[in-house]
Amino acid sequence: MSVLVRSGVGPLCAVARAGKCQSPGIPVAVETREAPSSVGVSRGLRARGLTSTLKGYYVHRDMLGEKGDFITSPEISQIFGELLGIWFISEWMATGKSTAFQLVELGPGRGTLVGDILRVFSQLGSVLKNCDISVHLVEVSQKLSEVQALTLTEEKVPLERNAESPVYMKGVTKSGIPVSWYRDLHDVPKGHSFYLAHEFFDVLPVHKFQKTPQGWREVFIDIDPQVSDKLRFVLAPCATPAEVFIQHDETRDHIEVCPDAGVIIEELSRRIALTGGAALVADYGHDGTKTDTFRGFCGHKLHDVLIAPGTADLTADVDFSFLRRMAQGKVASLGPITQHTFLKNMGIDVRLKVLLDKSNEQSVKQQLLQGYDMLMNPKKMGERFNFFALLPHQRLQGGRDQMNARQSKPFASPVAGFSELAWQ
Ligand code: SAH
Repeated sequence: MSVLVRSGVGPLCAVARAGKCQSPGIPVAVETREAPSSVGVSRGLRARGLTSTLKGYYVHRDMLGEKGDFITSPEISQIFGELLGIWFISEWMATGKSTAFQLVELGPGRGTLVGDILRVFSQLGSVLKNCDISVHLVEVSQKLSEVQALTLTEEKVPLERNAESPVYMKGVTKSGIPVSWYRDLHDVPKGHSFYLAHEFFDVLPVHKFQKTPQGWREVFIDIDPQVSDKLRFVLAPCATPAEVFIQHDETRDHIEVCPDAGVIIEELSRRIALTGGAALVADYGHDGTKTDTFRGFCGHKLHDVLIAPGTADLTADVDFSFLRRMAQGKVASLGPITQHTFLKNMGIDVRLKVLLDKSNEQSVKQQLLQGYDMLMNPKKMGERFNFFALLPHQRLQGGRDQMNARQSKPFASPVAGFSELAWQ
């Protein structure tokens, strides 16, 4: 994730406009990584003018990998992306093998994950042969979009660039699939799509709240009056607008809310309800149980979020119960289930064995085993990371496409990963 401090008045302006609280207080509660530039609800709540430091962090550097601030599952093992590739094909098959297939990834990092998924698509070319596949990447980082382009296209065909257009870059992957880049999900064409968000929702800004005898109070960041170059947390003296995101029956005494996540889940849900497809979300998080999860990472070590803002990755766990609430009524949701369970159901053990058997080099075997341990060990990523899916209601109820020839009633096939993988 990333950083907070911005020296401006963003949320305070929003607060003042709402006429609720005139605190001289501070920039924003907490802002994690960079957030989408044009999503409704969050616009008033975010510190728009305060993002330049954030942009500095995200736009100009590659913060992923061993030399960066954090490492993600696709960077650890190719098996991760391969199994996700199988998940998308399995869902595409289960929902009637549409003739068009838009693979949309939010926050694609270095492009490693989508690259591994596309390799599976190529290997299963005979299954997908009549399908018109395209890739759509939603990325705000100039630096990372260049890295993604290199990963996916290997510069075989020159890229088309237009910084002014919502589609700011276009190219063709090395396997011949058209790929386009956007800064905002709203600009992605609304065709039949399968969406992927891996370690994306944790980058979005959160508002922190604490319960006080006077009611919920938002946590702001302030300059310590005793030490001028030191930051500190303070409580807003009165109610602030983001309080609307807190449930009336909330029992925790400290919570983090993420309006941007709500806006994006609503958009994904609307699209899936309208055109079918599915969304797969994977992130570290909880099901509405945790309280204070905001923290910083720099060079893979925990980092005090108030020190040297702009140099560290800031993160807060994703609240999946909030995502589920935002999808309710529009689409069905599954999960969250742990990464361990999801990957086990997807057949990670079988895939590991195949790769181990294929390899003659001890160092490669070692790497595969270490990667497996990192992804699956409950003390590492196995239980901290969760999978969550959005699906059209018909997918779970059984639609026309799932009619069994000998049955008069439709049946719904199990959703891979959330139950054991079943090919049909
Ligand atoms: N999914 C990748 C990378 C995760 S890091 C992986 O698993 O390896 C988060 C990614 O989200 C980065 O690519 C970052 O540049 C991008 N990002 C951050 N804020 C974003 C936003 N508001 N909209 C789109 N992408 C964003």
